[in-house]
Amino acid sequence: MNVKARAELEGITPYALGQTIEEIKEQYGITTVRKLSDNENVYGTSPLVRQAIIQETANLCLYPDGLTSKVVGKLSSHYQIEPKHFLVSNGSEEILRLLTRAYIDKNDEAVMAEVTFPRYKTNVLIEGGKAVTVPMKNGRHDLEKMLEAITDKTKLVFVCNPNNPTGTIVAKHELLTFIDSVPSNVLIIMDEAYFEYADSKDYLDTMSLLGQYENLVILRTFSKIYGLASLRIGYGIMHEKVAGELHKVRDVFNVNQLAQAAAVAALEDQKFVKECSAKNSIERDFLSAKFKELKIDSFPSQSNFLYAFTNKPVIQKLTENGILVRQMQLPGYKEAFRITLGTHEDHEFILQVVGQLFHERAV
Ligand SMILES: *Cc1c(COP(=O)(O)O)cnc(C)c1O
Repeated sequence: MNVKARAELEGITPYALGQTIEEIKEQYGITTVRKLSDNENVYGTSPLVRQAIIQETANLCLYPDGLTSKVVGKLSSHYQIEPKHFLVSNGSEEILRLLTRAYIDKNDEAVMAEVTFPRYKTNVLIEGGKAVTVPMKNGRHDLEKMLEAITDKTKLVFVCNPNNPTGTIVAKHELLTFIDSVPSNVLIIMDEAYFEYADSKDYLDTMSLLGQYENLVILRTFSKIYGLASLRIGYGIMHEKVAGELHKVRDVFNVNQLAQAAAVAALEDQKFVKECSAKNSIERDFLSAKFKELKIDSFPSQSNFLYAFTNKPVIQKLTENGILVRQMQLPGYKEAFRITLGTHEDHEFILQVVGQLFHERAV
């Protein structure tokens, strides 16, 4: 092959998706697999969504609304923020790409945590920028060090809060100081894909700061608590000038119409969101406490998953019993993994499986 792709792509590998459910079933000869590796909503989707999608199928031959007006309208009344501040996208992942496309020139820098959502770094590298990563402090963003890492080449700084994969949040007062200290010519990207799961008093409501800090961009998604991961729809809230730049680089019809109809219906069912969040909090406390008894520690989570670590061989045991988790690395531990919080039934099963392992070991 003699046609060369851009030099920036040389060091980039496609995102590793892990084994499929079918592969796991075949490999271990089991009939049920519980996928707890991608932080999807284990309680499914609001029942209102299905009806909205069925109705919308009457219009499959038409292009979608390129301005996503109904979704923007709903979001605007939901948050009491003017429509011009919203940008709806093909998953919030798309906004990450639009941000780097619009703001990262060759050799520009973007500051981010060392252990965070991998798409920040990839998108920066694709544009020829430099990803400056800052080590974690107990699984948390080290905001002081991140601030020190900002130079006159820095264009973007990413804060994932709650952070994927560690599940942690940054303390309210620390984040306030950080936002206030970042120079106004650097965009602060707050990725809040899991914000509906955070119930700590120490979690900062960034939405209230939008008027005060023009360089603040907040990303949220319908993929997690709203249970619409397969449809690909997310959104950002930002200064209208930033939204204007992103509109220039996005595809014309970036969000399909079934996703738009689903998102409108999903936003109408806030009861579903509250119930999922409440159940998740109960199960988060339950599983982290029970894990601890079994010598499996985890970072304090404010999301719908735990980052767990242990010296016991639990990952293989879980996998062969049909529980899919995502393997991670943590120095000092033989095994680290991210597990999406399941239903109470899932957790009883998981604890039984892991408990067996401990029993076998003890004998
Ligand atoms: C899941 C996730 C997203 C986005 O997902 P989309 O499906 O593209 O909306 C963004 N950021 C983080 C940290 C996530 O975990």
